[in-house]
Amino acid sequence: LEPLYQFMVRVRAAGGITTPAQWLTLDELADKYGNGTLKLTTRQSFQFHGILKRNLKSTIQAVNETLLSTLATCGDVNRNVMCNPNPYQSQIHEEVYRLAGEISDYFLPKTTAYHEIWLNKEKVAGTTDVEPLYHHDYLPRKFKIALAIPPDNDIDIFANDLGLIVIEKNNKITGFNICAGGGLGSTFGNDATYPRLADVIGFAPKEKVIEVAEAVIAIQRDYGNRSDRKLSRLKHTIDDRGLEWFVKELHTRLGWELDSPEPYRFKSNGDTYGWLKGINEKWYFTLFVEHGRVKNEEGHELKKALREIAQIHTGDFRLTGNQNLIIGNVVEKDKESIEVILEKNGVKNHSQLTGLRKNSMACVALGTCGLAFAESERYLPSLVDKLDIIMRKNGLGEDEITIRMTGCPNNCARSSLGEIGFVGRAIGRYNLYLGASHNGDRLNTLYKEMLSEQDILQELDPIIAAYAQEREKEESFGDFVIRKEIVEATNRPLQVLH
Ligand code: SF4
Repeated sequence: LEPLYQFMVRVRAAGGITTPAQWLTLDELADKYGNGTLKLTTRQSFQFHGILKRNLKSTIQAVNETLLSTLATCGDVNRNVMCNPNPYQSQIHEEVYRLAGEISDYFLPKTTAYHEIWLNKEKVAGTTDVEPLYHHDYLPRKFKIALAIPPDNDIDIFANDLGLIVIEKNNKITGFNICAGGGLGSTFGNDATYPRLADVIGFAPKEKVIEVAEAVIAIQRDYGNRSDRKLSRLKHTIDDRGLEWFVKELHTRLGWELDSPEPYRFKSNGDTYGWLKGINEKWYFTLFVEHGRVKNEEGHELKKALREIAQIHTGDFRLTGNQNLIIGNVVEKDKESIEVILEKNGVKNHSQLTGLRKNSMACVALGTCGLAFAESERYLPSLVDKLDIIMRKNGLGEDEITIRMTGCPNNCARSSLGEIGFVGRAIGRYNLYLGASHNGDRLNTLYKEMLSEQDILQELDPIIAAYAQEREKEESFGDFVIRKEIVEATNRPLQVLH
């Protein structure tokens, strides 16, 4: 008898946008083939968990029938392209969303194998796939691209292999600051691995951005480490050969040079909750989804609520890079019905939640991920309950502090960018990291290792109390712990080339 293998299936949606009909299909598939829940990921895609091997093909076919795909959601190619999920926030947002879609399509692998294997397409005799960019061997590892629109760094631009920061003048995009070499994954006990933020290497006009992206990917294809997968991301290629070499190689391949980066400023890497009116006069509701898990629980039937909303909704659903959901393009007359549906299903409004919880993220970890050393998604909510008590007693209930947890240092929930970051070491034990910036441009630093829950609360209680009493005006928690020398600032700061 074959073991009862089960799989995780990821769904690709550039910028994380789906229609209500697509939402309903995904919701049904989660019940029919998965574990009855949907996970909204930190890269604006959906995950189904618990898909049995015998149902894998049916699931992938059903996803494709609803005009979404699972192509290139895994493997050594460019992955889901991230961007701010609300194209109607401004004309610039609209343009960036379109560009994210173009980049996503442009770098899809051209192979027909996916369609032959999963979608029953006939192989045409004698034809061989030609991959003009990926060639025969594809990339050494996955490749991640994101686009950010300052002052929002809601997709954590510096955590990507390639980041594009929008530069605008008079409400028009002039081009992008190009960031290269981000990636947060590492391995315990292997000092050659480390989280790294992308460096800002220059500015390119907007019509040249795909050309730049293609050249960056080609450098990584040709020079990336293919003998050790742990050292095979673009960050390693850059650090092994030097940033100067990388930029020179890029300029040689382009046949022209990037300009110096333009000034930009990020305020936060979190989401803004609640209703926002778009430039198209429709409404956008950003809903907190704890760690992206869409499920039904007693007194909190989120999955049911979203299903009911999808049945009446004429707009769309948008996934944020912080595991949250925007109910988008809502017409004025549906606003109230949506609020009523959420309320009657016990879905908490963001105004009932603390700033700490609203800025929390966790990866799936134990129960789903075979690489996890410790709980994350199933544990962080209860830890935040306890930290909330400390926050409230210090008058910090509303204060926004990013807190992130992962079950291993692969860093899927970007814990290295949490002002309070946890990485699982063993069951019930975590490394605690402090000192990331509130806007995602500084990594955190190891504070203490192998802490139990009691240790975590004992360590954080006096630091939070000191923050409440001694912080400077508008000083973030991450900046405070560095100013107070509770931790040293990271020794891997991001570089901006001029
Ligand atoms: Fe799994 Fe580690 Fe990623 Fe968490 S961070 S989902 S434990 S690989």
